[in-house]
This record gives sequence, C-alpha cells and structure tokens, in this order.
Amino acid sequence: MNNPIMAKSITYQSFAQHNYKQIPQLNYLNDEQIRDIEIVSHVLPFKTNNYVVNELINWENVPDDPIYTLTFPKKEMLTDEHYNLMKKVIESGASKDEIKKAAHAIRLQLNPHPAGQLEHNIPMIEDYKLTGMQHKYRETVLFFPSQGQTCHAYCSFCFRWPQFVGMDEWKFAMRETELLIKYLQEHKEVTDLLFTGGDPMIMKNKIFSTYIDAILDADIPNLQTIRIGTKVLGYWPYKFITDDDADDTLRTFEKIVKSGKNLAIMAHFNHPVELSTKAVKKAIKRVLQTGAQIRTQSPVMKNINADPKIWAAMWRKQVNLNCIPYYMFVARDTGAQHYFKVPLVEAWEIFRKAYQQVSGICRTVRGPSMSATPGKIQILGVSETGGKKIITLRFLQGRNPDWAAQPFFAEFDENAAWLTDLKPAFGDDKFFFEEEINLFQ
Ligand SMILES: *Cc1c(COP(=O)(O)O)cnc(C)c1O
Ligand code: SF4
Repeated sequence: MNNPIMAKSITYQSFAQHNYKQIPQLNYLNDEQIRDIEIVSHVLPFKTNNYVVNELINWENVPDDPIYTLTFPKKEMLTDEHYNLMKKVIESGASKDEIKKAAHAIRLQLNPHPAGQLEHNIPMIEDYKLTGMQHKYRETVLFFPSQGQTCHAYCSFCFRWPQFVGMDEWKFAMRETELLIKYLQEHKEVTDLLFTGGDPMIMKNKIFSTYIDAILDADIPNLQTIRIGTKVLGYWPYKFITDDDADDTLRTFEKIVKSGKNLAIMAHFNHPVELSTKAVKKAIKRVLQTGAQIRTQSPVMKNINADPKIWAAMWRKQVNLNCIPYYMFVARDTGAQHYFKVPLVEAWEIFRKAYQQVSGICRTVRGPSMSATPGKIQILGVSETGGKKIITLRFLQGRNPDWAAQPFFAEFDENAAWLTDLKPAFGDDKFFFEEEINLFQ
C-alpha cells in the first residue's frame, strides 16, 4: 500500500461532501462504526485524506489504531447524553437545519473557546481589534492568515475545532499583512512571529509567499524568528515533495533563512508512526535543506499516545531525523476531552518515564505543559513535604512575563486534569497569579 513518493491528494469529508463513504478501507468497519462516524461527525469536525488512510493507519488494528483514533470520529468521543441526543435527532428524520441546530447546541457545551482566547489575547492598533492575531506572551505574536484556517486532515482532539465547523464568529482571520507589520514595528519587544491556523501549510505558496515577502521587505529589526505551526509533515508530507508548489514553498523557506531570520517549523507529531513513512522522511530532509529548523510538539492523549514507550520512541526518531523535541502538552479542556484526557499526575509520570529513557539530546523537550489562561504551565512533579504530597508546577510562559520560571505548589490530586481542578497547597486560598487574573472568567 505504501506508495513511493508520488501522490495526488484526495480529501475525505463528512457534512457537505459526504465523500468519506468512498474510503475503500471502510469495509474494515462494521455498520455500527460507520453509523457512529456519521452521528459524531455532525458535532466534531471530520476530514481525512488518502495519505492518512493508506500510509498511516493500520486497518488491521482498527478501531484501536492510534492514527485512526486521531482522525476518525468514534462514539466515545461524545458523552452518552450528547451521542444519544444526536442519534435521536438524525433518526427522527429531522431536516438538515434541525440537525445543524442540535449539533450547534451540543458544541456550545464543549467549551469551544478554552483558555480565555476570546477575552484576553486580541491585540489592538488604536481602537481597531486585530482579530487575526493573538499576543499573549511578550516575545511572540500569533498570526492566523485567513487562507490557512483549515487543515489537511482534522485531529479528533483539536481545540481549534470551532474554526472548522462554521462557528464563524470565532474564526480568527485577517487578510491584510499591513496591520500585522505595523503591529510588529510598534512592538519592539516582539521577536517571534508564529504563523498558525488551522494549518498555514495548507496555503499555496503563491499566497504564503505574499505574506512572507511583505514581512521580509518591511525589514523589521526586532523580528528574529518566523515560526510556522503545522501538521503538514504528519498529514501531507507530499506538500514538500510532489505538490505543484513543493519546490516554490521550499524556495520561500530559503528566502527567510537567507534574510538572516531563524525559520522554525513547529511540527505537530502525535505518534511515531507519523515519522516512519518514506514520504515524511524525504519531506523532513528537504525542509531541513532550506536551513529551517524543525521543532516538534504534541499533546499527551489517552487512546493515542499515553505511554512512555511511545514518547521515548517518538523523540528518538525525531532526533534521528534531525528534528528538535520541543513540547509535550496536556490535552485542553475542550471538545472530546473526556475521551483523551490524561490527569496531570499521570501525564507527568509518562513524561518522566519517557525522559529517563532518552539521552540529553532528546531532553530539549519540556512538559507536560498546560496552555492555560495565565500561561503555559509545566507540571514539574509530585513530591512530599512535611508528610504531605504536593504537586510542583512552574510557568514556562506567563501572561505576565515575570511569572516565567516561577515554581508554585498545588495540593496533590491524582484526578486533576487541568489547572482549574487544582487547589493551592499549604492552605493558601489563591495561587500567586490569581491576584492579577481570574481563572474562571
Ligand atoms: C505556546 C504559545 C506561544 C509560543 O510559546 P513558546 O514557549 O515561545 O514556544 C505563543 N503564544 C501562545 C498564545 C502560545 O500558546
Ligand atoms: S492539525 Fe492542528 S489545527 Fe489542524 S486539526 Fe490537527 S490539531 Fe487542529
């Protein structure tokens, strides 16, 4: 089945297209599993492609296969209550509009805007809200190019999911680079610009290079690193091999590097399988040849990668391919979190056990880290003091830059799965940063 280094993209989707039924491997599934895809995909976005289906998923291993779980909707990803509700609506012969309405109502209950993204992080120029940007940590601005708001395939755990299901008021998008450039020029503290989405590498080079050229032409001295947050190496490595604009995209990467800026591809890999095909190896090589760096990140998730062996293998493979392990995240409190969630203490155990198996070269990775309202918070570990167990945490990034590298302490709680589940240790009624920020807003 492994097609050697030549591929035309075929996208399979539910909703409007409904062409997922053309996936040849669906005959590995029983009728019930197919009906579950139908029901769940009304609520959670579903999109996959021929690379994922033919080269990554081991269909003998379905439904437990990690990459199948990563992209295909399953019954368990909705709560019983939501699943039954959706099923009832569909089986009642409801109209498309009624089905849509029911799905939307469920989505609103799935915390579509985690970590205060709506309220806190949208930058302003004068009175104008720059809705295609986020500026949360002093050094780094996130940019959501309007043509990069979709992905080659969708991850079933994704916190960006409202963008894919037409909850449009939440679609960050900004067509003009002009305002972005103005903002970067005015904010000399910003050193990093991170293109994100969706997946900016869904953009054709013609559009991508328009953004890049404008930014490079503006010659912004404080801008030192351009980062591209992408899952393209995991979901469509042919982007850098056989797509029409593969070579042109790589030329754009070279141009960034030649301009004297650091180009960091923040590659999202969830499982070592994604690093094992001929196509991904070749794509990584071609990207690195441009002078770009590839740094890797992933959340830790039940049913996909909640096992230290998987992480150790993944980091080693990445280093073998000259990539730099960067972050292990905790899955966010959104969408199908109940299905993927790993409690914080367990996430730390997985991290620690994997970390112990690899050499210092792989230990550039940091985690497990929660991207929570006040910042990126790392679980440093569980220890005992004065006969009581505590969890030590620290800020890797803080909304207030002074918080970075500050340790703080929470009561031991093996079930806590997010910052908001934790209580301050030693009888304190607040964490130190809660003077400045309301966690539950
Ligand atoms: C993770 C993240 C960044 C980048 O943080 P680094 O630690 O520099 O990689 C920037 N902005 C937001 C909102 C983030 O979540
Ligand atoms: S590739 Fe990234 S943005 Fe796209 S669905 Fe997956 S996690 Fe979400």
